[in-house]
Amino acid sequence: MNFAAAPEAAARSGNLLLGALPEHDFARLASLLEPVQVEVGEVLYEPGGLIHSIYFPHDSLISLLGVAEGRMTLEVGLVGREGMLGATVALGHEVAQVRAVVQRAGRASRMDSTLFRAAFARNPSLQRVLYRYTDTLLAQALQIAVCSRFHVLEARLARSLLITRDRLQSDKFHLTHEFLAHALGVRRVGVTKAASALQQQGLIIYSRGNIEILDVAGLAAASCKCYEIVKEAGEQALATAFE
Ligand SMILES: [Zn+2]
Repeated sequence: MNFAAAPEAAARSGNLLLGALPEHDFARLASLLEPVQVEVGEVLYEPGGLIHSIYFPHDSLISLLGVAEGRMTLEVGLVGREGMLGATVALGHEVAQVRAVVQRAGRASRMDSTLFRAAFARNPSLQRVLYRYTDTLLAQALQIAVCSRFHVLEARLARSLLITRDRLQSDKFHLTHEFLAHALGVRRVGVTKAASALQQQGLIIYSRGNIEILDVAGLAAASCKCYEIVKEAGEQALATAFE
């Protein structure tokens, strides 16, 4: 699809939340959406900063990082084509609670947060979709909190790689050691060790940030159960958005 020529159609087919809205409700939002390209490492939100725009990713992927003392971080969620960034604006929060960093460059539809809040207030189908979605984001964050406290790094890395794979719908992607260290709240050397262990088991190839998953079932077996729990929560939310 030609993104520049037909941004509204691209937004509807590119993002599953927008795609889940009934035609006439989407039409009311469409003129407010602006197509943008986001780049790897771009920081869209900083904790404590004002949220000026909300984003519906298409093929881009955005990592939500909880931040402690400005430098220690832990990934508490991932937003891709199944979701949106800035949903809390609808709940009246104008200030970001997390750092939002682009993990994979790509396209997104952006909307001014004030216009979004107004649109949300008068669009019941948008409300319904977003209530479901924010509930799954919360479920994700809760599970990751438990996972980070009780599960070993190797299993958490496997979980993180599988979730990224599902979101990107690809067995090959790029994630630097530094990015994974920020996401998992550990030092880079920890990521290196855990990745080597997974590589030695023939589950992945990881070289210079290029990851290839060789054995999805094996990686799922190496992961903690948190992968399945997070995945099911996301799938259920989309499946039931318009029951
Ligand atoms: Zn876990």
